[in-house]
Amino acid sequence: MRILRVALDLPVDTLFDYLDGASHVKVGQRVLVPFGKRQIIAIVLARVAVSEIADNKLKAILQAFEDEPPLPAATLQLLKFCADYYQYPLGQALLSALPSRLREARPALLPKLTVFKLSEQARAAGLEAIAPRAKLQRLLYQALQNTEHLDATLLATIASGWRNGIKQMISQGLVMTAEVEHLLQVNLASASVSPPLNADQQQSLDVILAEREAFKVWLLYGITGSGKTEVYMHLLQAVLAKPGSQALVLVPEINLTPQLEARFRARFPQMHMVMLHSQMNESERLHGWLRSQNGDARIIIGTRLSVFTPIKHLALIVVDEEHDASYKQQDGMRYSARDIAILRAKSANVPALLGSATPSLESWHNAQTGRYHLLQLSNRAVLGAALPEIKCIDVRQLPLQEALHPQLIAAMRQRLEHGEQSLLFINRRGYAPVLLCNACAWVAPCTRCSSRLVVHLRDKRMRCHHCGHEQRMPMQCPKCGNPDLRPAGQGTQRLEELLTAQFPQARILRVDRDSMRNKHAISAMTKAVHAQEIDILVGTQMLAKGHDFPHLTLVGVIDTDSALFSPDYRAAEKLFAQLMQVSGRAGRAGKSGEVLIQTAFPDHVLFQALQRHDYVAFADSLLQERQMANFPPYCFEALLRAEAPHYEPVREFFRAATAASETLTHNLAVYDPVRPRMERLKGMERAQLLIQASARPALQKFLRSWVTMLRALPQAGKVRWSVDVDPLDF
Ligand code: ADP
Ligand code: ZN
Ligand code: ZN
Repeated sequence: MRILRVALDLPVDTLFDYLDGASHVKVGQRVLVPFGKRQIIAIVLARVAVSEIADNKLKAILQAFEDEPPLPAATLQLLKFCADYYQYPLGQALLSALPSRLREARPALLPKLTVFKLSEQARAAGLEAIAPRAKLQRLLYQALQNTEHLDATLLATIASGWRNGIKQMISQGLVMTAEVEHLLQVNLASASVSPPLNADQQQSLDVILAEREAFKVWLLYGITGSGKTEVYMHLLQAVLAKPGSQALVLVPEINLTPQLEARFRARFPQMHMVMLHSQMNESERLHGWLRSQNGDARIIIGTRLSVFTPIKHLALIVVDEEHDASYKQQDGMRYSARDIAILRAKSANVPALLGSATPSLESWHNAQTGRYHLLQLSNRAVLGAALPEIKCIDVRQLPLQEALHPQLIAAMRQRLEHGEQSLLFINRRGYAPVLLCNACAWVAPCTRCSSRLVVHLRDKRMRCHHCGHEQRMPMQCPKCGNPDLRPAGQGTQRLEELLTAQFPQARILRVDRDSMRNKHAISAMTKAVHAQEIDILVGTQMLAKGHDFPHLTLVGVIDTDSALFSPDYRAAEKLFAQLMQVSGRAGRAGKSGEVLIQTAFPDHVLFQALQRHDYVAFADSLLQERQMANFPPYCFEALLRAEAPHYEPVREFFRAATAASETLTHNLAVYDPVRPRMERLKGMERAQLLIQASARPALQKFLRSWVTMLRALPQAGKVRWSVDVDPLDF
């Protein structure tokens, strides 16, 4: 069987055949192949005897990376499933899941590790082989005697001058060097002490451990600060006690704080741990990937992209903050890392633990119907820590230009006097969301999007937060010539300015994407807050999650009302989760916390439920609404999106797509195309078409045929289009 069937990174659904010269390439291996005038990387999916292409037309592969470990069958299987489920070309699905180093035409290997070991005669001779006065050598001998070999890191823990000793022993033929692929199990520091679990935590742990050998999805619903992370760590401890077993811990983009990493490293100093996320450099990512694949990494902590990492002996998957929207990939293959994690756990037959203080309605529904198994933590874990008191401040009486209600200001002043910290949460960075002409009501628009430009006063510029377009602030209104243009509304920078004026003696720190651009800014911020060098934090959702600040006792929430009446039916769910999260920052240690929410709608059900900390009631009421409206999780959706610089080709594409759908027999709802809220984005005119089905298989069957037809449409070449299965954003 001389023919290799390979996947290429191309937007087509076909595989390609190449001749394999003399090499012994395996399935899952990377090869370099000629394609047109280019040379590109391919993944071997099968070895076949015959091709549809005539033998003399088949080209030979150029190079095989045979020294690399091939992608395991399980990984290929998983990505095949994803390509099929998310209607994405298989080759692109495969190659986009790989670290970018694996898409380059050069070998991608782990650096070999140099190790030192006793020669056979030295081992046979025993300690007598070393002169009694050679203390250092005797020490090294004893260490080497107890193991197969040691590396530099481990030898350094035995004696700082180890290099000299080893050098002499090598010259005497007592010690030899070798190169190994696998890391040695390091046992340097002692683990941080874990607090004894409380009854709720222990019970959750016991229940999972009793069934740790098989697939099951556990939903750990625990209020903020109830000790979910502690449960994850105990679970890992138990599962990883089995030699060689590995655990995957998925965290949301924003939650990947240095704090979390430090916590895991401190608890598991003896386990090799890798972090996998988009901020790391390419060789770090490659090494993390390969160490997971070869079994060296016992703990793999990563964001959504890490869900595809090959793992040799997967024993457990944890998905922290499972409701978080960052688990959904928003371009390319639009996968849900949470859903794939569950699929992976199922095929590996291991438990999946999803944790959240505000589970997604999908997961909550699954727990209620018995597909998932619910576990609950109802109290804060730290003794004496209670949930904060949440109150609404009615801002209807507040003069429009005042951003902060006197009640909130008074509460902050009180915190300052007590040496406690406050956090002001506003979900908008920049100075003000719009620049407004007071004479004719003109607002500065983005030329490339149907959005407004955000004022960044400090650099006297306006920026579009959707496309990045930026320009100088105009001196006068381009419409009526009025020179009196004013920033209207609040952003983080303006709040910071306001607070500085209000509390000149306070130490204020703004936390948003602009101020935290530097790689180390977040850990510096965390450190400063812990050291009580900060009195007031002002920031966006970057502050909402993950952080554990013991001296923070007040959270103020500003300007969230627009989300209450959003046309997106998921907006309420998201807002509730976000406010729960940010409220959870207050009063985490012994001191009691308070949350003040400025709103013009204090009687809204969302705030009512929030004040009672009643996720369950709110989730149930939302689920009822969804059921009545026949929205997910009571139906299954897919969205066809398309965009082009002008609307006409988009309209034509949807006309053809709709016509194609009518030729298929199906029992699902294919809606008319509509313009999304952002009709124009990054210079592109957009539209989308929703499909709803009462069952997943029906949707999948339809999509399979339909997307094949779409790919063949002449109109498809004139637009940029994509399919989003289980979409979250509309
Ligand atoms: P969550 O992940 O639910 O937000 P964490 O696991 O981060 O909660 O725990 C919140 C705080 O409570 C942390 O400071 C943690 O060290 C502490 N904690 C967790 N479990 C216990 C326990 N059983 N006893 C005492 N403190 C605990
Ligand atoms: Zn004007
Ligand atoms: Zn824009």
